[in-house]
Amino acid sequence: MIGSPEAHALLARYPAIDLHADSLMWTRWIGYDLHKRHSPPLPKAALGGHVDVPRMREGGMGAQFFGLVSLPIADRMKGMARVIDEQIDALEETIARKPDALRLVRTAADVERAQADGAVSALLGIEGAHALEGDLDKLDGFAARGVRYLGVLHFSSNEAGFPAYGRGRRDQEGLTAWGFALVERCEARGVIVDLAHINKRGFLDACRVAKKPPIVSHTGVLGAFEHWRNIDDEQLRAVSDKGGVVGVIFCPRFVGGDGLEPVVKHLLHVIGQVGEDHAALGSDWDGFIVPTAPLADPTGIPLLVDALLGAGLSERTIAKVVRLNTLRVLAE
Ligand SMILES: [Zn+2]
Repeated sequence: MIGSPEAHALLARYPAIDLHADSLMWTRWIGYDLHKRHSPPLPKAALGGHVDVPRMREGGMGAQFFGLVSLPIADRMKGMARVIDEQIDALEETIARKPDALRLVRTAADVERAQADGAVSALLGIEGAHALEGDLDKLDGFAARGVRYLGVLHFSSNEAGFPAYGRGRRDQEGLTAWGFALVERCEARGVIVDLAHINKRGFLDACRVAKKPPIVSHTGVLGAFEHWRNIDDEQLRAVSDKGGVVGVIFCPRFVGGDGLEPVVKHLLHVIGQVGEDHAALGSDWDGFIVPTAPLADPTGIPLLVDALLGAGLSERTIAKVVRLNTLRVLAE
């Protein structure tokens, strides 16, 4: 067993929820099976193969948000919305093989119910509004299939706005008129607005008009480490003012070094700036990153809990970070 008995006891009461892993991209590409326990990826070599149900259980995880990815250049021919549908299909097929082990859920109550039934929850989020192909109505279709958040941007500009980094970057411009309409439509359909990857102008625009809590599903924070991928304190306040949460990423490049310490530093910065109600987990497992070694897969979550206990956080605060904050936003 990795991690202390105290950490495992805490996670048994508050099973962790992570805001972002791209595992379904691998399921769609190479038939990656979420029900199989995969051996830990080779250090410094694996960009995927991080998440599966057996290791989620071992690591005390209750739910995983799966990011649905489409690539504007590679997938344009096929249709980007279709590529998203194929990833949802892949999840549904996976679940159909073992419905007692993994369940597609939508609400906080669903997560609790799945937990009580001994199943791990899967939640869905789309990464990049380009997947809607300029058609707001497509959001309704995805929401009907269970999508609970929409990342407005990914690595290239789209109809809604401009990325913090990547193709078509324009730092002086915020959300487009379509982007504002998208935020409104998301809120009307119960889809959480995710501000990972969007530039600062667009980020602040979305927070300004948001009537429901937005999230940043996977990010680092500039106050802990200077990197283009990270958000600043003004952005942290903008999200927390609307009741949202910020999922801290497990990528050493963005958090500023390997090991648990940098991840803890980012979580502590969020808590220090905007309070314990706004920090969450946003691993980015299976998202073409090499995660920090102790958090290379979900079995490392108890180690993170131990590190947070070691940093002096109370059990209540840790429960919020690993689970309750995300559940709250899901419920709102
Ligand atoms: Zn991402």
